[in-house]
Amino acid sequence: MSEYDFDLFVIGAGSGGVRASRMAANAGLRVAVAEDRYMGGTCVNVGCVPKKLFVYASAFSEDFEDSVAYGWKRQETPFDWPTLRDNNAAEIARLNGIYRNLLANAGVQVIEGRARLSGPHTVVVGDAEYSADRILVATGGWPFIPDVPGREHAITSNEIFSLENFPQRILVVGGGYIAVEFAGIFAGLGAETHLSYRRDLFLRGFDREIREFARNEIGKKGVRLHFNHDVTAIEKQADGSLMAHSADGAPLNVDVVLYATGRRPNISGLGLEELGVVLHRDGTISVDDDFRTNVRSIYALGDVTGEPQLTPVALAEAMALVKHLRTGEPAEIDYNNIPTAVFCQPNIGTVGLSEEEARDSGIPVTIFKSEFRPMRHSVSGRDERSLMKLVVDSSSDRVVGVHMVGPDAGEIIQGMAVALKAGATKATFDQTIGIHPTAAEEFVTMR
Ligand code: FAD
Ligand code: NDP
Repeated sequence: MSEYDFDLFVIGAGSGGVRASRMAANAGLRVAVAEDRYMGGTCVNVGCVPKKLFVYASAFSEDFEDSVAYGWKRQETPFDWPTLRDNNAAEIARLNGIYRNLLANAGVQVIEGRARLSGPHTVVVGDAEYSADRILVATGGWPFIPDVPGREHAITSNEIFSLENFPQRILVVGGGYIAVEFAGIFAGLGAETHLSYRRDLFLRGFDREIREFARNEIGKKGVRLHFNHDVTAIEKQADGSLMAHSADGAPLNVDVVLYATGRRPNISGLGLEELGVVLHRDGTISVDDDFRTNVRSIYALGDVTGEPQLTPVALAEAMALVKHLRTGEPAEIDYNNIPTAVFCQPNIGTVGLSEEEARDSGIPVTIFKSEFRPMRHSVSGRDERSLMKLVVDSSSDRVVGVHMVGPDAGEIIQGMAVALKAGATKATFDQTIGIHPTAAEEFVTMR
């Protein structure tokens, strides 16, 4: 009989925590997971899932417009925010139940409440203390708002899905994934939408040409882009609206200010410092290749350990950790060529190196590109264009980067990521027969 209550105690039932708990329990370990907020974590409750549903909602406005050239009669199509908000909430409640069942069926004990480490092998939740051979911290991240006067009037992605009223005018601050996605969502839903970003061009880290192309396309959708723009104060007006001041332009009068200025590790009150767990300067937990902290019984994975902050990464880490705990073999995660998509309109999808990254690392680069109007718009008449780009290492012919701005880029790039993982060369792409008529076929017909 083990001296501990559990073999593994997981803190946080998000993407990483749920997967690790389930897999560990399925492998025969005695597992508990503590969760203080919502089953399924950020992704299910205030992240990927509701975001994607809102992206679907926002796309209908263009569908209605485009349908007219295809013979559909123009009709009144007013948008009803409470319907979207409440249907989203119902879907999330359904998913919460599914996650709960998955854990119960795997034999994981779910403990509700905020957990705190009280020792290398002990966790306190409420009045109870539990012991475990190993503890996994999978507490994710939390939105960060910079210290701007009036920041209490701003909201984050945590609140945006459940607003009482639809904001007719919204200012989104930031230039990363969340800012760009939500600017697209609210513009599509019909709000006057402003995006404020502190540097010259959003989506830092993505391929420059892709960013420039996305800027043009997003601009065409009516998002008012304010680059080199810093919000210096937010003031509440007598009518309840908000005035966002900046040093660089006229103040913006809006109904909601959404800050999307990054996320910080969710570690407050966890007791990590007291136990001497080493953190990075940004507060993320330092782990080795097997997700182990310097306190040997404590592990961590997912967003709380830093970038890349993506659900499939947290899932892969959880699978690798459980395999490691089960077999003792190295966890072995390959962080190269992680595909990713920004669900703006049109989508951005990307895998591998940007042109700049390839050149900076001394790779002799050949670029292949295709820019075109998506077939649908040859009839709809909409002024929208797509860009597809391959970055090829000309010394080896290996394709080292695949990038796209266009409808369904996320769907298309997933397959491209398999090709890159398999080490595909440009010759392999050229030998591949296309699917006609698609946009994706452009990737195998570029010469
Ligand atoms: P989380 O999912 O954040 O889970 C952590 C859990 O721990 C939470 O449930 C929290 O309540 C709980 N917790 C924290 N502290 C404690 C404590 N002390 N005691 C008990 N419980 C605790 N990624 C994608 O791949 N694709 C997307 O499209 C995408 N869209 C996103 C959109 C938004 C708006 C946001 C915010 C994120 C998005 N992400 C997306 C990122 C993705 O949600 C995260 O990378 C992922 O959820 C990380 O999983 P995790 O397990 O590390 O943490
Ligand atoms: P990001 O890190 O992607 O972007 C943060 C943005 O805020 C950057 O543009 C940054 O500017 C800016 N910023 C940071 N600090 C300040 C400040 N003090 N003042 C003004 N601007 C500031 O974070 P997000 O919040 O957009 O998203 C968090 C993470 O969630 C993402 O990195 C991603 O991993 C994940 N996510 C994934 C999605 C997907 O897969 N589709 C969708 C949504 C989120 P600068 O560039 O100058 O640093």
